[in-house]
Amino acid sequence: MKITPPPAALKLLALLEQAGLSAYFVGGCVRDAQLGLPPKDWDIAAAAPPERVMRACAGLRVIESGLRHGTVTVLVDGQAFEVTSFRREGNYSDRRRPDTIAFTADLFADLSRRDFTCNAMAWHPAKGLSDPFGGAADLEARTLRCVGGPALRFAEDALRILRALRFAAVLGLRLEAATAAQCFAHKGALAFVAAERKRDELLKLLCGANTAAVLLEYAEIFTAILPALTIAGQSCAALQTAPPRAHIRLALLLQTEADARASCEALRCPRRFTDAVCLLVRLQKSALAQLPPGSARGAELRRLLGRHGAAALLDWIALREAQAPPGEQPEWTALKTEIAALQADDACLSRGQLAINGKDLQALGMRGRQVGEVLERLLEQVLTGRLANDRGTLLRAAQKKK
Ligand code: ATP
Ligand code: MG
Repeated sequence: MKITPPPAALKLLALLEQAGLSAYFVGGCVRDAQLGLPPKDWDIAAAAPPERVMRACAGLRVIESGLRHGTVTVLVDGQAFEVTSFRREGNYSDRRRPDTIAFTADLFADLSRRDFTCNAMAWHPAKGLSDPFGGAADLEARTLRCVGGPALRFAEDALRILRALRFAAVLGLRLEAATAAQCFAHKGALAFVAAERKRDELLKLLCGANTAAVLLEYAEIFTAILPALTIAGQSCAALQTAPPRAHIRLALLLQTEADARASCEALRCPRRFTDAVCLLVRLQKSALAQLPPGSARGAELRRLLGRHGAAALLDWIALREAQAPPGEQPEWTALKTEIAALQADDACLSRGQLAINGKDLQALGMRGRQVGEVLERLLEQVLTGRLANDRGTLLRAAQKKK
């Protein structure tokens, strides 16, 4: 197995060991390296309580990022690494988090509390792989399996259901039979899980290469969380074709703007994200989609560009391309070319880009609301190509509207 941590991560591991603490790479990085994927972060687990970890890292910048759970973040050569003390967990009486945690020096105990066999491996550059639950063999067989009995593990923390589906969607794994059955059996307990935790897993899940299959197979779990989702062959096929960006993929599963807003709010999505999803769903009904190429379409395109910006429109086109049967693709390509051309020649798309402004109209004697109304009418004429966006033309036209 080829695991090549960055030099800064190896430096940190060596530093911990010089202080007498045994330490390992654990979790996602060990899993991803075995799949031949570049790990996102290199988490370290150490056989000592956080105070000792902090003392060992005294010369470095240390952030007490999750001290209660035994996690500190250490900066080495400008890179951040999480170091978590080995721990074992008590009962989960609230179905969300353990009643107690206890630090331990026992690697096996730490790996036992982890969710899936492929996430319960540790690796050390000299000692090699510790894999007490057969995670490597499961990865080889592309199987996702709970550590321990799935009924207990999902009852402890129902978020693990979504994590299982996330790993299946992103890594292309299949859930082992008992793990899959218990995902269904415990779906009701997802109601007890914090919205933010569900959101983080769901948005990652949507961006997988195997998302459509997972959505279809586990549809009832997803609609238990978000009842408005339309999970059907067609919407899922479009989703899988769309770029792996969560707002575009989520929009493909929603029918109305009200559904989009309710779903995003249920997940406590950030405002910008919610607005982006809502806009994409709303634009589905935009006249632009129905207009044949020509001046009316050009005007509508300019109007939408001025109102929402090119980035949002290009996202919308990506969404429509994903929905369109293969024969209709050229139309969207043409639209993208039109947008690029409008951006290149700095076309006038909004009031602020008109060659005259409110002060010019006031100089002509206009006041109050009339100023805004006349600017709006002039913009409309520029967008539709009836007026050129130059100062003289617009001032003459404004005179006539007085
Ligand atoms: P990613 O690469 O997307 O970060 P990850 O496996 O590293 O995936 P994290 O959420 O960063 O996921 O968690 C790190 C590790 O902590 C996991 O690999 C797993 O061992 C353990 N873990 C995380 N969440 C849970 C949970 N809810 N229950 C049990 N173990 C968990
Ligand atoms: Mg991680």
